[in-house]
Amino acid sequence: MWERNAGFFRLAGLPDAVFLTLGRAAAIGAQETGPEVAKERIRSAGLDPVAVAVMEQVHGGAIQICDKPDDTVFEKCDALVTGQRGVALVVRSADCLPVSVFDPVLGVIGLAHAGWRGLRERIAAGLVETMHREYGVRPSDLLAGIGPGIGSCCYEVGPEMEPVFGSSVRIVEGRRFLDLKASAVGQLAGTGISAERIFVSPWCTFCDREGCCSYRRDGESAGRMLTYAMLL
Ligand SMILES: [Zn+2]
Repeated sequence: MWERNAGFFRLAGLPDAVFLTLGRAAAIGAQETGPEVAKERIRSAGLDPVAVAVMEQVHGGAIQICDKPDDTVFEKCDALVTGQRGVALVVRSADCLPVSVFDPVLGVIGLAHAGWRGLRERIAAGLVETMHREYGVRPSDLLAGIGPGIGSCCYEVGPEMEPVFGSSVRIVEGRRFLDLKASAVGQLAGTGISAERIFVSPWCTFCDREGCCSYRRDGESAGRMLTYAMLL
């Protein structure tokens, strides 16, 4: 269900919603955090949002509601939820996962920036719980997508991750590799979304030098990919 075009990665087949990540060619600088550049890039991808909602991401677990059709910067949070059509929620990432949850029944969408710190704070599960609490969504109605992020092929971690992530840390010849995507899937499934409604992109940002930004690969010079989730 994930497809890759020249410049972007998209979860296809969503009814009345968009979840796409612009690839490395359209990446922004690490310090470019304002809504203007995000809006311009999404327009270059052929979409026309009414407004964009960006976050001052802090690798935490805070989730906010975006309930106005205005360009907005949300301070110190890593996930947004909206029921406003045409408002593009935006995540910047370079290895962390963009995670989107969509309710086609009630017309509600959420988007999270989920690295190991955010997942430790249960941000993927919290996204669903917030949508349930604020909008009354039912997990059985939801579709979820996990966009390009660093894969367990490339994400070697220390032993301190084992107590936090359990079986999502895979041990290969004495080295430990964290599977962020498996951790996110576990959280989403734990809220009641059925496994066949969770769509995981196959791309590893570290492996995919041509298509993706990777902080672990490129360090401070890494750009940031923009991911958009929007109700049409
Ligand atoms: Zn990899």
